[in-house]
Amino acid sequence: MSAQLLHQVLIVEGSTSVRELTAARIRRVPNIDAICISTYQKAAALLADGTDYLCAVVGLVLDDAANGEVIELTRKCSIPTIVLTGASSETLISNIDSSLVIDYVIKESIKQIDYIAEIVKNTYAHQRQTILVVDDSTSQRNYLTRLLKNLRYQVITAENGAVALEVLQHNESIPLALIDQNMPEMSGLQLIEKIRLRFDQEELALIGISTNQDDATTVKFLKAGANDYLSKPFSTDEFYARVNQHCRLVRYISTLNELASTDYLTKLKNRHTLFSQGKLLHSNALRGSFHLAVGMIDADNFKTINDRHGHATGDLVLIGMADKITEMFRKTDVIARFGGEEFICVAVVNSAADAREVFERVRKQVEQMEINAEGTTIKVTVSIGVTTKLGDSLEQMISLADEAVYQAKTTGRNRVIEL
Ligand code: GH3
Ligand code: MG
Ligand code: MG
Repeated sequence: MSAQLLHQVLIVEGSTSVRELTAARIRRVPNIDAICISTYQKAAALLADGTDYLCAVVGLVLDDAANGEVIELTRKCSIPTIVLTGASSETLISNIDSSLVIDYVIKESIKQIDYIAEIVKNTYAHQRQTILVVDDSTSQRNYLTRLLKNLRYQVITAENGAVALEVLQHNESIPLALIDQNMPEMSGLQLIEKIRLRFDQEELALIGISTNQDDATTVKFLKAGANDYLSKPFSTDEFYARVNQHCRLVRYISTLNELASTDYLTKLKNRHTLFSQGKLLHSNALRGSFHLAVGMIDADNFKTINDRHGHATGDLVLIGMADKITEMFRKTDVIARFGGEEFICVAVVNSAADAREVFERVRKQVEQMEINAEGTTIKVTVSIGVTTKLGDSLEQMISLADEAVYQAKTTGRNRVIEL
């Protein structure tokens, strides 16, 4: 993904109170900083050094530039711009080249300042989102790419349906694709139908684009699985609003899914995900695809760590353990927080004999780990129960691993027992 995310917002506004209020609110957005300037001249001097900004918030009317000249300035520097206007600036606005203006906000109301902060937050998030543009026309691809980059999105283009399918296969986190209808070989509608066999509307939004303005075309697109439809020509304002809305929805749903599937403290998978994903591994192992090991890892005398150092420090130890354990497995293995200080790993291993070695390494790594908190160094050991006996179900493997942990605890702790 992109190396460095832009995080500075340039505010150019004559009124001190509006400027400072806006800056204070924007600075409360995570990762964002704001730089305040009061005049056109100072903004021009600042921008001369070529620094790039995430976006700019500019007053339409400034003391030394009363006709929106500052918008021309940010446009020249390719900075997406939010324009602060008075209630009666309609005529002035209608004369502005608006392709880099992402929104107009009337500056009288404090509520609008929250709205600006929301736009800034979303614009920051766009930098991590990649949109796919599918169109056989080079000029149309370039045009859509430019509009999307104005909003700070990353863009991948495809000149036909086959290339688009290939791109989606390798980039599962794309939230939105814009799809032209009239393409040789595979039409936009055909492409949308193909994409919908693999991705549903909540994980990948699709917007169909064509010159047809009749209702029948819109309905065809929606029935084929498009989330939305744009007929050419469209205004940039409408384009921005629709693209942002769909990307935001996909982003929210993906955040919700993540919250529902992970453990809040350690960011490991939760119990629910352990069973849903672990069962898939188990059934593939039953078909003889590979050897599978289930290990239950239980912190030794964890109560004592809490008693000595406090619960908050205990939490840090659990996070440290989770990170260390995660490091030692593949991405495709399932590592979950099973209970308070218990973790479960469902891992593909080379052989049954290999499993014991893998978990022995985990035990040693945790033993060597040092957690520094509040001026002290804390150490922790774990008892691990392992099995590679597939039985009939994942539950059976977990219950054997649990039995093995019990034996490890009763025979002295800080050891691996295999059953
Ligand atoms: P044993 O070696 O027999 O496993 O001893 P233990 O103290 O680790 O086991 P026990 O099951 O008696 O106690 C588990 C402790 O883990 C008690 C509980 O307060 C602590 N614990 C569980 N969840 C959390 C958590 O989220 N944060 C913190 N800090 N402690 C937790
Ligand atoms: Mg326990
Ligand atoms: Mg314990």
